[in-house]
Amino acid sequence: MSEITWPALVAAQQPEYPDAAALEYAQSILRGLPPLVFAGECDELTAKLGKASAGQAFVLMGGDCAETFAANTADSIRARLKTLLQMAIVLTYGASMPVVKIGRIAGQYGKPRSSGMETIDGVELPSYRGDAVNGLDFDEASRVHDPMRLVQTYHASAAALNLLRAFTQGGYADLRQVHSWNQDFVGESTPGKRYEQMAAEIDRALSFMAACGADPDEFRRADVYASHEALLLDYEKPLTRIDSRTGNLYDVSGHFLWIGERTRDLDGAHIDFASRISNPIGVKIGPKSTPEVVSALLAKLDPNKTPGRLMLITRMGASQIRDVLPAIVKAVTETGHPVTWVCDPMHGNTREAASGHKTRLFDDVLDEVKGFFEVHRALGTHPGGIHIELTGDDVTECLGGISGVSEDDLPFRYETACDPRLNRVQSLDLAFQVADMLGNK
Ligand code: PEP
Ligand code: MN
Repeated sequence: MSEITWPALVAAQQPEYPDAAALEYAQSILRGLPPLVFAGECDELTAKLGKASAGQAFVLMGGDCAETFAANTADSIRARLKTLLQMAIVLTYGASMPVVKIGRIAGQYGKPRSSGMETIDGVELPSYRGDAVNGLDFDEASRVHDPMRLVQTYHASAAALNLLRAFTQGGYADLRQVHSWNQDFVGESTPGKRYEQMAAEIDRALSFMAACGADPDEFRRADVYASHEALLLDYEKPLTRIDSRTGNLYDVSGHFLWIGERTRDLDGAHIDFASRISNPIGVKIGPKSTPEVVSALLAKLDPNKTPGRLMLITRMGASQIRDVLPAIVKAVTETGHPVTWVCDPMHGNTREAASGHKTRLFDDVLDEVKGFFEVHRALGTHPGGIHIELTGDDVTECLGGISGVSEDDLPFRYETACDPRLNRVQSLDLAFQVADMLGNK
């Protein structure tokens, strides 16, 4: 295998490993491990995203803010997949449009932090940077940056991907299972009941088609792709390989990688890394972004103007999206880059509850998505997708919505290792509202 060389550039938000030899050892292991995804799958996703950039598909991205090794269980993975499949079917049915399904899953183990240190009751320790770097427990040993966690990240991702592939290709995602995804607590909720009605309509349509002799393979399986933030370059670089067919580089740690708001410096190592790999990629675009910066990112990340190559994931906050997004969309349209516009209505809407819990209001999340649709509709561009932090469980992390999580409920099931996630009822509720927006052109 020929060596890949990387330029020496500043990389923000990287762990500090106390032992350089230990890091080199971990990376040598990663370099020898097989790919988690294949170049051909990444290209297939690029083609599907190209449809979304052209207004012919909608992207649903969702999953944990931070996956953890402890929660990488069959139950948790199944519950997250179920949420994604339910949301996807609501969107597909409501909008009569193909939905490209991408999980924040099987690799979302590294977190950027606004502060390197965290203080609790007068004790100061390094911040938690995701299970790929250190442990969540607030004690000195757990917060040490340990490079062997990168190897553990690979194995956890491989296990999750293996199960995802089995579920999605082996019958669990069969359209005739639409009802079964709605069992447990979600079925009794208002969105759960609306879902049940829709599932009955789908069943009737399937029976009709079967009676006519049509039973396409597409109904038996779903393609769900894996994505994570390409944050930890000590992990991503050893997992970047030269594709033997084309000679191009692919980061084989996941199908889709994005660069976060804190690491998208135009001249930094992350944007350089993203520019060199051939996977479909995304960049988060926050409220301080300017049309000039975004145009420069396009030139660097998508010089060939390839449909599906680049996704711009806007995360402005409900109060700013209507003011900040239009100038950026106009500038991008003028460049002629066929980007996929995706709305992350989570990261611009984080606030602290009186109890100290980091939370988000369902109404803010919904309002940012509405603003996103309004801006794109007004400018004639396609609102191409949503990027959501969600879980399959009945957690109490985000406030409001039909499930009515109140401030008093926050401590009951506040289980996230990082940012607050929509629970399954809130996720389904959002999917119905977005399907209505998509349907009302
Ligand atoms: C995230 O997606 O969890 C995240 C940290 O987002 P952003 O880079 O947009 O802040
Ligand atoms: Mn997050």
